[in-house]
Amino acid sequence: MQLKDNYGRKINYLRLSVTDRCDMRCSYCMPEEGIAKLGHHEVLSYEEMFRLARAAVAIGIEKIRVTGGEPLVRKGIVSFLKRLADIPGLRQLVLTTNGQLLEEMAADLRKAGVQRLNISLDSLRPEVFAGITRCGDLSRVLKGIDAAKREGFPIKVNMVVMRGVNDNEIGDFAALTREEGCSVRFIEYMPAIQSPHWQSLVVSGQEILERLARDYDYDFAPVISGELAGPAREFRIAGARGNIGVITALSGHFCQDCNRIRITAAGQVRNCLFSSEEFNLRPLLALDDCGALQSELKRLVSAKPACHGMNEQQAGHARFAMAQIGG
Ligand code: SAM
Repeated sequence: MQLKDNYGRKINYLRLSVTDRCDMRCSYCMPEEGIAKLGHHEVLSYEEMFRLARAAVAIGIEKIRVTGGEPLVRKGIVSFLKRLADIPGLRQLVLTTNGQLLEEMAADLRKAGVQRLNISLDSLRPEVFAGITRCGDLSRVLKGIDAAKREGFPIKVNMVVMRGVNDNEIGDFAALTREEGCSVRFIEYMPAIQSPHWQSLVVSGQEILERLARDYDYDFAPVISGELAGPAREFRIAGARGNIGVITALSGHFCQDCNRIRITAAGQVRNCLFSSEEFNLRPLLALDDCGALQSELKRLVSAKPACHGMNEQQAGHARFAMAQIGG
C-alpha cells in the first residue's frame, strides 16, 4: 500500500511526538520560561498513539520517528516503543533524543527494537552547550552517546548551527564522522520562537559546506541517500565512516522530496512543519474506528501543501512550538 499526496509525493514517514515535556530549554526551541504545557488529559495515551501508528502503517507509513519534547522523559516509553516495533509492515523505528537519559536507557531501547538514534547536540564545549540548552549537561549527553554506541546503535548527531553561537564548531562536528564514526547533520536554524534578529543566526547549508571545504580543508563527496532517508543532502569526508549532511529547511526547500507527516502529542496532524493549520484526530480516536482514522489520514496527506512559504527574508513569521510539534 502506498500513500501519495496530490503532487505525487510518496508519504511514508511519520514523526510522532509522544510528549511536549522536555528536560532542556534550548534557546532555539523554547523561550527560557518554557511553554504552556499540555494538561495530562490533553496528551494522547499510548493506546491512542499505538492505534494511530498501526492505522498509519496499514495505509503506507514505513518509518516512524518518535520525538517530543524529550521522548525519553515520558514514563512507559520503552514498552510503547516495543509495541511500535512489532507493528507488521513498519520497516524503521527511530528515535530523536537530546541524549541526557541515554546512558541508563540505551540498552532497553535497543531491546525494544529501536533501530537508530538521532541525538541533538549543538556544542562540544561545556559552557556553550550550557548556554544553548540552559539546563543541559554535556557530560551526560556524551556518556549517553557512548552507551548507545556500545549497544550497537548507528548514531546521527543533529547540530543546529547558529551564527556567533556555535558556528565556529562545525569543523569539530565534521571531525566526529572520522573520529567517532557517527554521522552529523547540520541543521539550518529555523525561526521557531519569535526573536527580533533571527535572520542573523541563520547559516545556510551552502555556507556550511563552503566553510568546511575552505576553512577546514575537508574533501567530501555526495552520498546517495537511502530510500527512507530524511531531507538531508549527504556527503562523506574522505576516510570517514559516517556522513555529514545539511538540512536546508529555509534556504533550499526540500519540499519536492518531502515524505513526512507529523502528529503532535495532543493528536494534531501537521502535514507541513511550517503550516499554521493543524487537524485534530482526537474525535476520531474516540470513535475507535480504524477505517475512519485511515480515511482522515489519507485526506490530510492529499492536502499536503506543495511547498512551505517560509524563507530567510521573512520577518513577521508565525511562531511554532517545535517542542510540541517534535521538530
Ligand atoms: N528532545 C528531542 C531532541 O532534542 O532531539 C526531540 C525534540 S527536538 C524539538 C527535535 C529536533 O528539532 C532537534 O534536532 C532540534 O535540534 C530541532 N529543532 C528544534 N528547534 C529548532 C529550530 N528552531 N531550528 C532548527 N531545528 C530545531
